[in-house]
Amino acid sequence: MKENKIGLVVHGGAGTMERGKMSPEREREYRAGIENALRAGWEILQHGGSSLDATEAAVRTFEDDPLFNAGKGSVFSAAGTNEMDAAIMDGKTLKAGAVADVRHIKNPISLARLVMEKSPHVLMSGEGAENFAKEHGVELVDQKYFFTQERWDALQKIKAAEKAGANGDKKFIITDQDLHGTVGAVALDRNGNLAAATSTGGKTNKLSGRIGDTPIIGGGTYANNATCAVSGTGDGEFFIMATAAHDVSALMEYRRKTVEEATVAVIDKIAKLGGTGGMIAIDKNGKVALPFNTSGMYRGYVDPNGKFITEIYR
Ligand code: ASP
Repeated sequence: MKENKIGLVVHGGAGTMERGKMSPEREREYRAGIENALRAGWEILQHGGSSLDATEAAVRTFEDDPLFNAGKGSVFSAAGTNEMDAAIMDGKTLKAGAVADVRHIKNPISLARLVMEKSPHVLMSGEGAENFAKEHGVELVDQKYFFTQERWDALQKIKAAEKAGANGDKKFIITDQDLHGTVGAVALDRNGNLAAATSTGGKTNKLSGRIGDTPIIGGGTYANNATCAVSGTGDGEFFIMATAAHDVSALMEYRRKTVEEATVAVIDKIAKLGGTGGMIAIDKNGKVALPFNTSGMYRGYVDPNGKFITEIYR
């Protein structure tokens, strides 16, 4: 039997990332983080595993890495809490699961998967989602688990800048690294099935209760075997308004655009609305696209020779 092509793309967030501003050591850490996620997903795909398993595993790896804004490394809301969103979608069945505003879940992406597979719903939030987790034997963690000094300092810096009315003041340099980030994975498996998974801590200093595009099916996450799988990162509000991830699929389905053309068109649409960000996508033939309108996006994919490619800058 002819084996279908497999493919995997991951991202660790888009934003202003200037070459030369990051220490070589820090850059190595980020690249290692991206590679770890690729390895986790690729091993599954290579052994004939599903794209759902592969994207979940890749995203879990990012969630456990404090460098990325998801799971352990989640940013803080204005109230000093960590409030996480995640979603996963199966391109074969169009089944999807998502969680929003969860605060005690070590790996929100796995809870999203549980919502997809074990509940009659697509999107669950807050306490109800956490009760559902408990009922299914998911271990809850204290909010302390999500504390990282760097994210906490970023919140204090933003609050200080706000208080001083110092938006744009050089004294308060607030990098995109301080502000947001997200992680995601899209994959094609041996059976020709596509899947997308995305997880985030949202934006630093967001109002408590704010939900971004990540858990919005069609906003920050979408997969359809007929077209592609997409995971986005950037100004979530704009991704929701643009129904970004679904728009990529729609452009492919109805306008016969390639995955590259469709993702670029949607990133342009977001830019026109005033938003910044990027996305990763893979189509049913394994073609990948990784466009962004920021100066960088942590990203990686497996090339046709099975080599792991990691990139940060434009
Ligand atoms: N899209 C995420 C959100 O708005 C943040 C990001 O990707 O930087 O929650």
